[in-house]
Amino acid sequence: MRILITGGAGFLGSHLCDRLIEQGHEVICLDNFFTGRKANIQHLVGNPRFELVRHDVIDPFKFEVDRIYNLACPASPPHYQYNPIKTMKTSVVGAINCLGLAKRVKARVFQASTSEVYGDPNVHPQPEAYWGHVNPIGLRSCYDEGKRAAETLFFDYHRENGVDIRVIRIFNTYGPRMLPDDGRVVSNFIVQALQGRDLTVYGEGSQTRSFCYVDDLVDGFMRFMEQEKIVGPMNLGNPGEFTMLQLAELVLKKVGGKSKITHLPLPSDDPKQRRPDISLAKETLGWEPKVPLEQGIEKTIAYFKSALDK
Ligand code: NAD
Ligand code: UDP
Repeated sequence: MRILITGGAGFLGSHLCDRLIEQGHEVICLDNFFTGRKANIQHLVGNPRFELVRHDVIDPFKFEVDRIYNLACPASPPHYQYNPIKTMKTSVVGAINCLGLAKRVKARVFQASTSEVYGDPNVHPQPEAYWGHVNPIGLRSCYDEGKRAAETLFFDYHRENGVDIRVIRIFNTYGPRMLPDDGRVVSNFIVQALQGRDLTVYGEGSQTRSFCYVDDLVDGFMRFMEQEKIVGPMNLGNPGEFTMLQLAELVLKKVGGKSKITHLPLPSDDPKQRRPDISLAKETLGWEPKVPLEQGIEKTIAYFKSALDK
């Protein structure tokens, strides 16, 4: 198949490019390089089945493709808050452009939605049927509400125009190729520990997250895209739940060295707890994550060690 990946030079997108090329597909990677890097897909350049296009998803695009994975959107809070209006446009106008293309060329289109659609949840763990608890006017809203509006557009194009959609809600995912200055917690803690700096726990560190290793997630993406039973939304993530203090202690144990834990103020609207209910993914895809946090953290530490040495 010919497959378009928007945001293909980013963390998740570049791993997806690798897997789809391995499977023998043609891949068009579209990216504006806001948080993506050529280094993430450099090894694919020159492959006759791989094309790289510098383009912004808010400007229309046309490709003859069978599948579209829409991943274009900054995912880390400092990056999506850098230009919140642009973040909202990327989610909403980007979704419209992907859906319009899917409608014209009859491609199946996949939306990388997020656990952020649940906001600061008062149902725990979060099943897909939960509508969420989201602040519409806060600092995280450009991302949360942008992704919620994108989901609405996906389901309206599906109902109104018969567009063949797949919507995934991704819970915190980590692994090699995250940016060292990405701002998300796993990369922050590992880079801080490797550089001998103190680990910055926001607030008391009692807030929880559930961390999925990138290979598990990308496997779930492809299984979901190619099944015919449901269009979603479907949660994908690792249900293992940890406090940020536990994560910091794990990273300190694995890296060693002299770093300590320091506390910084908790950002506004920071969700207190988050854990996916993945029953639907288990039943429909026979999918569940295989890589435990300790093992995934070791692989990610090894990646950052060599990336920081370069
Ligand atoms: P990332 O920042 O590494 O990747 C995003 C990619 O999109 C980057 O390559 C960036 O340059 C590109 N991009 C941003 N704005 C664009 C635009 N206007 N036009 C074209 N390209 C643009 O983040 P990631 O973790 O790889 O996330 C990929 C997708 O998955 C995002 O949509 C994100 O919201 C979603 N997601 C990720 C996680 C996670 O934990 N990693 C969790 C929930 C949802
Ligand atoms: N966090 C932290 N220290 C950091 C970065 C993040 O304690 O250096 C916390 C943050 O406040 C949040 C959790 O870690 O409670 C996950 O943050 P991240 O930005 O990775 O993802 P999100 O909040 O979007 O789930």
